[in-house]
Amino acid sequence: MNKEERKKRYNEFLNNSMNNPNIISGVHNYCDRWCERCKFIKRCRVGLMELERLDDDDEDGSAIWEELSAVFEATIEMITEKAKEMGIDLNNIPELEKKKRKFSEIEKESEKYSTEVHNWIKNNHENFQQQTLEIVKKELAIPDFKEALEVIQWYEFFIHVKIRRASDGLYDTEEDDNEFRKNDSDGTAKIAIIAINRSIEAFTVLYQRFPEHEDKILGFLKQLSSIKQKMLATFPDAMAFKRSGFDE
Ligand code: SF4
Repeated sequence: MNKEERKKRYNEFLNNSMNNPNIISGVHNYCDRWCERCKFIKRCRVGLMELERLDDDDEDGSAIWEELSAVFEATIEMITEKAKEMGIDLNNIPELEKKKRKFSEIEKESEKYSTEVHNWIKNNHENFQQQTLEIVKKELAIPDFKEALEVIQWYEFFIHVKIRRASDGLYDTEEDDNEFRKNDSDGTAKIAIIAINRSIEAFTVLYQRFPEHEDKILGFLKQLSSIKQKMLATFPDAMAFKRSGFDE
């Protein structure tokens, strides 16, 4: 499928999804983006697009980039069209001043965690692969630590990215959207905390399986626990935030 065909398909998809009563509005806003494991994949615009993409014959992995490029182009065309209707010239918008700020303690900690976990898994990749193969051969089953590793890897950068986004809201002092920013920060902080909880659970599985990595795993558990405590203190309303679909 070429780019024009993809754009056409995306536009049709958007029009159809607007009239789809099963779609849960905003369900994708505070999720973990793990669409293939999500119970709302057929009730979410992003999830449905992901399903369409998975249907593609994408042997070399290039379809995802073609799809993204087509989606961006179609979206820009749609926005430009809407702006024109509203008399807005998108070429003449004053540049927004980018606010710079230093990382907070939680952001520094979550960044450190991301880097260290990523390197640890990378450095032990062969060992984990080898042990997986041995268990599959011996027990004819996929070991539980494989699932635990997938969970940890899925969230290894996600946690830091979400903490940064949630923290941004604390420094945004524009009067007009204070309420929105507070809600957005709480929703974002909540999914970060959920990701931390799932990572903690996954590390406890690894702890039992890999006694030779005990120190390292305990170190990660300590980091996650510290980040979680700081998040709960910084965003005291986060866990009460109701995410569309997930918390209803
Ligand atoms: S709500 Fe589910 S399907 Fe939609 S983007 Fe999030 S993880 Fe994917």
